[in-house]
Amino acid sequence: MTISALMPVYPRCGTRPVRGEGCYLIGERGERYLDFASGIAVNLLGHGHPHYTKAVQDQVATLMHVSNLYGSPQGEAFAQRLVDNTFADTVFFTNSGAEAVECAIKTARRYHYANGNPERHTIITFSNAFHGRTLGTISATDQEKLREGFEPLLPGFAYAPFNDLEAAERLIDASTAGFLVEPIQGESGIRPATPEFLKGLRALADKHGLLLILDEVQSGVARTGTLYAYEQYGIVPDIMASAKGIGGGFPMGACLATEEAAKGMVPGTHGSTYGGNPLAMAAGQAVFDVILADGFLDHVKQMGERLRQTLEQMIPNHDTLFDSVRGTGLMLGLRLKVPSRDFVAHLRDHHGLLTVAAGDNVVRILPPLVIEEDHIAEFARKLSEGARSFTPSDDAA
Ligand SMILES: *Cc1c(COP(=O)(O)O)cnc(C)c1O
Repeated sequence: MTISALMPVYPRCGTRPVRGEGCYLIGERGERYLDFASGIAVNLLGHGHPHYTKAVQDQVATLMHVSNLYGSPQGEAFAQRLVDNTFADTVFFTNSGAEAVECAIKTARRYHYANGNPERHTIITFSNAFHGRTLGTISATDQEKLREGFEPLLPGFAYAPFNDLEAAERLIDASTAGFLVEPIQGESGIRPATPEFLKGLRALADKHGLLLILDEVQSGVARTGTLYAYEQYGIVPDIMASAKGIGGGFPMGACLATEEAAKGMVPGTHGSTYGGNPLAMAAGQAVFDVILADGFLDHVKQMGERLRQTLEQMIPNHDTLFDSVRGTGLMLGLRLKVPSRDFVAHLRDHHGLLTVAAGDNVVRILPPLVIEEDHIAEFARKLSEGARSFTPSDDAA
């Protein structure tokens, strides 16, 4: 037997975290890391946040799980909180981001079915998108590396270049159900949609009776300095997938929709054994207690500005390695002039700094939203030392 007990689908590195303290992770050998990866935009309150920890502990002792066969005071309360703070009228809770996107796709198809147009089933998605790893969500992206060997994929998707409104419009036909798009593409390298593009998709959806579905699994839950990124574009979606940060580390997601868009989601059409269980709801509520508190979103905006300025000021000093900074709030990308994977590993292994590699030579910088100025100063010191001691490998291209 040579296969590892953990199915070897991840190229895991040598860092083996066993404990978290605020914005730091501690490895198996006791080594400390400044965590500007946050479990890929998940641990937005850092590790061991007192309010979050207590809420989850109390709920474990009170009631962890019951079936969705029963009434859910916990689910009703958290769904109402999401409804009160977003475009949405109704929420379905999931266990992950991919499931939230799946629910969004199903909701869109059921909308047209309920309207007597079952032929309107095709969702237009965009190049370099990432929507998850289920068969449905890998079918929803044109990225070959996610799909290879998993064919046949699901029909019902068409692909246009990201930020190309005319190409999206050309794909609309009698089978189109709507658009599915990340306001800021995460995995492919922190690429923001242009305002004209998102506004244009909204206008096309309105003109043709289509649904605009946003995938805010990575950009949502205060990450960009507003509760959801769409607020900064001056548009509202019809359906939206949220996950990652929403549970603060507890596995959960949500599919939010307007009453009109959710008209086909009647009893019996969808479900999940765990989705929205009392423990998940306690985790989500604890996250929202913190991020909706007075001044928290301003804190994220301020820290995001400070971090961005710090990065921009560093570029001239490291101009053979650093190219540019992009993103919003605390969802930032540092674009390198070489592939980012080796540099991310170098920062981690030699400077105790965790970031995440992404497409397009980008180092993703996704700190906990509770960082303070001294964390940014420490980050800048480590990044600068890392850049000075780094030699890009010859085969890095
Ligand atoms: C991470 C991510 C997903 C998938 O979420 P999982 O919880 O891994 O299923 C979907 N969409 C976007 C934009 C993501 O960043």
